[in-house]
Amino acid sequence: MLINKLFDTAIVGGGVAGTALLFTLARYTDLKSIILFEKYDEVAQLNSNPKANSQTLHVGDIESNYTYEKAEKVKKASSMVANYIQNFDEVDRCGFVKDKMLLAVGEKEIEELKERYEEFKRLYPYLELWDEAFLREFEPKLLEDREEPILAMGARGQITTVDYKALSESFVQKALDTDKNIQMRYNEEVTKIERKEDGNYMITTDTTTFRAKSVVVNAGAYSLLFAQEMGFGSQYAILPIGGSFFFTKEKLLNSKVYTMQNPKLPFAAIHADPDITQNWNTRFGPTAFALPKLERYHALHLKDFISALNIDKDVIKVYFDLFRDKTIRRYILKNVVEEIPVVGKEVFIRDARKLIPSLCVSDIRFADGYGGMRPQVIDKKNRKLLLGEAKIEEGGLIFNMTPSPGATSSLSIALTDSLSICKTLRATFDVLKHENEIQTLKSFSVKNFIKEERNLA
Ligand SMILES: Cc1cc2nc3c(=O)[nH]c(=O)nc-3n(C[C@H](O)[C@H](O)[C@H](O)COP(=O)(O)OP(=O)(O)OC[C@H]3O[C@@H](n4cnc5c(N)ncnc54)[C@H](O)[C@@H]3O)c2cc1C
Repeated sequence: MLINKLFDTAIVGGGVAGTALLFTLARYTDLKSIILFEKYDEVAQLNSNPKANSQTLHVGDIESNYTYEKAEKVKKASSMVANYIQNFDEVDRCGFVKDKMLLAVGEKEIEELKERYEEFKRLYPYLELWDEAFLREFEPKLLEDREEPILAMGARGQITTVDYKALSESFVQKALDTDKNIQMRYNEEVTKIERKEDGNYMITTDTTTFRAKSVVVNAGAYSLLFAQEMGFGSQYAILPIGGSFFFTKEKLLNSKVYTMQNPKLPFAAIHADPDITQNWNTRFGPTAFALPKLERYHALHLKDFISALNIDKDVIKVYFDLFRDKTIRRYILKNVVEEIPVVGKEVFIRDARKLIPSLCVSDIRFADGYGGMRPQVIDKKNRKLLLGEAKIEEGGLIFNMTPSPGATSSLSIALTDSLSICKTLRATFDVLKHENEIQTLKSFSVKNFIKEERNLA
């Protein structure tokens, strides 16, 4: 077997997380050689694909499932992606400028929305309250056949939508454009990672063996499997939660419309999104249901699945607690029924009508080939389902698990990991260049972009 040269960093996984790290290391550090392994023939074939996720840049302004603290964190992380898109001239290729809102239906939700507005406008001064008169003009479908009162909190002219595959490709291109030794190994599945006595790592793939001084595994649910094989992360288990979508036959809304979250439910309430892949037709979802798979629309490897579940009494306790709650139990069962052909649409439409009351069953279709698997992490020690990202770090070895809003946070996670790798390898990180290009918006901004668009029109 051939053993290749020693790389500074090896990245496992070519989704948006892996490619964001490749870009950050290549452009802002003095590391000389980076290798990325992707088992499929292109980047972003799983959750980072626009067919798998909701294409949202989560800023925290319209996501009512975020607390103020979480929103603050997400705002900072998302600004890096927004700045990248604008500073590197990727508006209309990777990121799209649209309007968005959080919709409250009924008096109780309206009161909650008003309170949220008062609190969150400190963080997002651009937010506006939109009443029915405004919405009737702006998004008339929200009011058609509506009996209950509504109010929305929204924003106009923001980067709301991101094609995370196009973004991943852009990251790779920018890395290849540097003078570093960048190797992209497509169709190459990593099967084993070992730490050697000299402190370096041996990475075995289905064809060859490589060596690296540091390794970052950004392989979705598989990150935990690699960690556990190497003796780390036994405190975690994965609960794979599938998410599906429904399309309307024609475009009904221009904006992203999120709904108020039931605080008891662990996953975000469904929303309506103009879809990049379907000429901006309205896409509803995602649903949330447990599925015995680690990759949607790909063959199941039973051994990997069982390892990821990591079932023991602590994991069973988390499942039991989820099922014990009547609201969550009903929500889980409803989401399972929504996957059943024909019947599923009948059940899903009740939720979708919260957004568009005039919607008929014949107006929507199950989005075949769309949807992904969220690798939700269970913290066994604290017997808790974690709702954000999780990281296991050991010297020059990092494993990331990135459920939503992992794509939004990709550049922020990449920054943390790059700093950590630089510390371990005694490499230099160009803080100033990163601040200028990623943490700051250059003169070309969305506002200018909108002005230019309007001047042209
Ligand atoms: C239904 C749904 C909706 C979502 N909506 C949003 C949203 O609107 N906004 C948002 O920010 N986030 C959203 N997310 C989350 C987001 O999609 C993920 O956080 C993000 O895509 C994770 O990126 P990743 O690179 O870690 O994982 P992935 O994109 O899954 O990439 C992992 C890569 O690793 C590769 N790989 C795995 N094992 C190996 C191996 N052994 N060797 C080589 N390669 C390997 C895979 O082929 C894959 O390409 C959503 C997720 C779901 C499921």
